[in-house]
Amino acid sequence: MLYHSTRSKGVPISSAEAIKTGLAQDGGLFVPESIPVLSLAEIGSLAHQTYNERAFHILSYYLSDFSPAELKECVDKAYSREKFETENIAPIYPLGKSTYFLELWHGPTCAFKDMALQILPHLLTKSIQKCGSGKECVILVATSGDTGKAALEGFKDVEGTRIFVFYPERGVSEIQKLQMITQEGNNVGVASVKGNFDDAQSGVKSIFTDAEYAQLLDANGFILSSANSINWGRLVPQIVYYFSAYADLYKNGEIALGEKINFAVPTGNFGNILAAYYAKRMGLPVAKLICASNENNILTDFLNTGVYDRNRKFYTTLSPSMDILISSNLERLLFDVAGGDYMHIRAWMRELAETGKYRVPPMLLQKLKDIFWAGYCNDDMTKKTIKSVYNEYSYVMDTHTAVAKNVYAQYIEATQDQTKTVIASTASPFKFNQSVLIALDGVASVAGKNEFELLDQLAKLTQMRIPKSLSALASMPRLFNITCERTQMHQVVSEFLQVE
Ligand SMILES: *Cc1c(COP(=O)(O)O)cnc(C)c1O
Repeated sequence: MLYHSTRSKGVPISSAEAIKTGLAQDGGLFVPESIPVLSLAEIGSLAHQTYNERAFHILSYYLSDFSPAELKECVDKAYSREKFETENIAPIYPLGKSTYFLELWHGPTCAFKDMALQILPHLLTKSIQKCGSGKECVILVATSGDTGKAALEGFKDVEGTRIFVFYPERGVSEIQKLQMITQEGNNVGVASVKGNFDDAQSGVKSIFTDAEYAQLLDANGFILSSANSINWGRLVPQIVYYFSAYADLYKNGEIALGEKINFAVPTGNFGNILAAYYAKRMGLPVAKLICASNENNILTDFLNTGVYDRNRKFYTTLSPSMDILISSNLERLLFDVAGGDYMHIRAWMRELAETGKYRVPPMLLQKLKDIFWAGYCNDDMTKKTIKSVYNEYSYVMDTHTAVAKNVYAQYIEATQDQTKTVIASTASPFKFNQSVLIALDGVASVAGKNEFELLDQLAKLTQMRIPKSLSALASMPRLFNITCERTQMHQVVSEFLQVE
């Protein structure tokens, strides 16, 4: 399988090259030249496989320049009992007769980013070896919370890599901060940046685009790389769990082989739901993809009107990992639905950069509407949804998952569709303990409590077990206390790598 950019036809490259490079030179995203299609019998045969076997099967199609032994090693290092708290990695939880949660948060950081970031470091180091540079890979991350910790956990002690994460002094939750400053591993570094997420992000970007700095690093045996969600190596592992969910439903007798199901996905950067789209294109029997947003409902508007317009107010919500106005991975969807017409993609992305807005033609909008249904849910409804699902089923959702559940309810209301539906559950409720407790038990229940009291209280109220990685934070040493100005970030990285 070869890859090229969404914005030009250039010379196709291998998957290792695409993963190593991350973003194409022309600013486009790497996409596969064709999309493999699995037969129904092949999909059925996944039912009797483990998660790792399923992952190996799907990834083999896309990472054809990896040997079977290399791929197996990557998969087994990522999805192990040591890293995940459940045997089957991404279990299904039934809610009533025709709704299921696909729990993607049993990994080390309790959010779905682990599904990709546990395997990416292994794919990346193999890719760099294959491309023969022999350099040590330096990952720089600016994070608004979940990604930074998931990347640290994924890259910790992975040979041939170093990772440094910048988080904004203002804007991450207390538990997210604790998760980062207690990070163990001999190749990791963490600092906070004065300012907000944009300050941290623009600082990291300026390091990435500094050619002179890249030379300095190169001379010292380092190569900069990104663990960003536009990297193909982060997207492709996410296709696996949609197949896995289908295989589990079939195995458990919930559906017949070939029966179509819906997926409802809480969406931010459009990575998770794009993986569901690829699964559908690969022959997985999928009816509708339900795209759920919070109040930052730019995707809802786009999928309903064909106009993508980022000139709007940015809201800080209870589902912060979906507070995004530029959904980068949408570009891959448009490329595919537009039949690979990169000239159009280029024009739309230029308009987006220049005016903050673009419009797709009615024909393309119709194609999108045949595949997707989109809706959004505000904070108040998010809390009410957490409460009502808990009251009815004793199932506790985090705020992101609740957005998807609410939008799915809107979908049923609007369409009367009876098709069985899997909702992607993207974080442990313990990770967003304060919002979940307020939803279940009112504002007074959290007053004056610290993070660990909140964890205990949520466990007591719901009879759920606190994920080990979160309860352990209380007694772990605080290892990082660097705070820097945005302008000092280069220097902080240089000190971390000991280059001058
Ligand atoms: C990142 C994230 C999302 C959004 O996923 P995208 O791939 O960016 O659409 C949803 N929920 C949680 C908990 C996340 O961390």
